[in-house]
Amino acid sequence: MLRLQDIRKYFPVRGGVLMKVIGEIKAVDGVSMDIGKGETFGLVGETGSGKTTLGRVVLKLIEPTSGRIFFDGRDITELRGKELLPLRREMQIVFQDPYKALHPKKKVKDIVGEPLIIHEGLRGKEVEERVSEMLKLVGLNPEHMHRYPHEFSGGQRQRIVIARALILRPKFIVLDEPTSALDVSVQAKILNLLSDLKEKFGLTYLLISHNLAVVRHFSNRVGVMYLGKLVEVAPTEELFENPRHPYTIGLISSIPVPDPKLVKSRRKLLLLGEIPSPMNPPSGCRFHTRCPYAKEVCRTEEPKIEEISEGHYVACHLWRELS
Ligand code: SF4
Repeated sequence: MLRLQDIRKYFPVRGGVLMKVIGEIKAVDGVSMDIGKGETFGLVGETGSGKTTLGRVVLKLIEPTSGRIFFDGRDITELRGKELLPLRREMQIVFQDPYKALHPKKKVKDIVGEPLIIHEGLRGKEVEERVSEMLKLVGLNPEHMHRYPHEFSGGQRQRIVIARALILRPKFIVLDEPTSALDVSVQAKILNLLSDLKEKFGLTYLLISHNLAVVRHFSNRVGVMYLGKLVEVAPTEELFENPRHPYTIGLISSIPVPDPKLVKSRRKLLLLGEIPSPMNPPSGCRFHTRCPYAKEVCRTEEPKIEEISEGHYVACHLWRELS
């Protein structure tokens, strides 16, 4: 469904009186990966790892600095402006914050129905019929179409956001922290809804989240990002049961467990310090400033990502020694 080849996204940083370019933020720095049809690919990492930027590049909401994007067999890298319209039908996004994602002065029918007017030229009753059908599918009452966003709870608003994303029957959806702005009590309901809709419509998801429990529950495969790079990719259970990159081990160690005896054998690593600035990423392995196993080679040479077992990829010089 999706193939990324060596994607980079650098943002210029301006400063001084003349606001000249004084550097660049390497938000995404050489990411390659595939997502198969019907798959849910989870992308995890701390704030500043580049996962949200990558999600926006995939959808062409922002242009990559370099690299190529293939969607459903087509190279979409060079598409611009109106050429992107057909793609907007097929690729959608569900943003993190349903409070910001909905126009406060528009009724639900106008919010959810707008893509039908733009892409299918529908009007009046035709739009209302499709909106009504979609609201039912996301667990809302069709009568809700005549109300405004402020009349709904957070969970209901996220259902409206999902209805809008699905109204054109897309194939691929980026879920950008879809539940993190919601109360814990409604998070599971929204995740179950997304899971049901995936089955019903044969969707493919890219799930961006810092919540490892959500990613574990919901994804087929997981990619771990650190400072703009993918450091580990594996099928979900393999990644959580047998993490090989020290950063992944650190992330997984930070998940609270109800009974520590159950995970006695699992290796632990405390992640110290903050993620460094992507403007001046560390040389060699970018994780070396926080890695307790770092050796000289880690400071000077960047580790390549390599397949260590079927479908399990790691970028670490010492993965053999640490196994
Ligand atoms: Fe740690 Fe070195 Fe592996 Fe980087 S390459 S994760 S610094 S051991």
